[in-house]
Amino acid sequence: MAELISGKTLAAKLKAEAAAEAAELREKGVHARLAVVIVGENPASRTYVAGKAKDCAECGLLSDVIALPEETTEAALLEKIAALNADKTVHGVLVQLPLPGHIREKRVIDAISPDKDVDGFTPVNVGRMVIGEECFLPCTPAGCIEMLKSTGVPIAGKDAVVIGRSNIVGKPAALLLTANNATVTLCHSKTRDLKAKCAAADIIVAAIGKAGFVTADMVKEGAVVIDVGINRNAEGKLCGDVDFAPVAEKAAYITPVPGGVGLMTRAMLMKNTVKAARLQSGL
Ligand code: NDP
Repeated sequence: MAELISGKTLAAKLKAEAAAEAAELREKGVHARLAVVIVGENPASRTYVAGKAKDCAECGLLSDVIALPEETTEAALLEKIAALNADKTVHGVLVQLPLPGHIREKRVIDAISPDKDVDGFTPVNVGRMVIGEECFLPCTPAGCIEMLKSTGVPIAGKDAVVIGRSNIVGKPAALLLTANNATVTLCHSKTRDLKAKCAAADIIVAAIGKAGFVTADMVKEGAVVIDVGINRNAEGKLCGDVDFAPVAEKAAYITPVPGGVGLMTRAMLMKNTVKAARLQSGL
């Protein structure tokens, strides 16, 4: 039976570290501050943004939630971002995705100052991550790596399969695993023999967005399984991309949903915001 990798415990530890560092900065006159911009009424996005503000309060960070109406133009949003980039009291700038259809996400992300890009989504930060330079790592994949490391099972030399190649999860997860010396197979909807590839993997990172997609027959005995997915099952209950109970019978370690990667994503955002404050204040 797999051991649970608790996002709750690990995220609490990371948040405590962020809080301690934020307190140190405050003593030196710097109050770390995150600005979160949200456009429109998407209820899930509203919940995520509220969670980020709550995390900031818990860690002793200031936060501003800038809620703009659905009909906000791209130009107005870009203007807002430019103002936040220029505001020296704001250290982290984040735009909650998805944006309404009339706004080009890429234009908006590109407009965020790389120094304040605490989501790690701008091309500059992505490029730095690819070449292994100091940067803001994207929160979800960085959280996955923390969870893997917490098991004590070395990542180096392991065969890892990442399912999903989105820019925010799958691709950076594959890059970070490679940086940690795993041998990585990045799978997607056009991958052949996905089941066999997964069944040979020591580490599986599932980021597909389909409830129960990873079944027990796809998992090697003793594998480490990281479930990024956030879905609703037929009964409306929150669940991941992994068929949890049967896979937990075979895996050595597994992350739960809820209580797994999602909490780590939030904690990594706190770490990145404090780091941004430290770097911008030259401390
Ligand atoms: P995307 O929809 O952007 O990407 C999904 C990926 O899964 C794509 O690369 C797609 O392949 C691949 N895929 C879809 N169907 C299959 C299939 N049958 N076989 C193999 N691959 C397949 O999703 P995200 O990366 O944004 O999110 C993935 C999941 O993670 C979602 O449930 C999301 O809610 C969750 N999530 C959780 C976060 C957290 O903090 N825990 C943060 C962000 C996301 P292709 O590229 O070929 O289309």
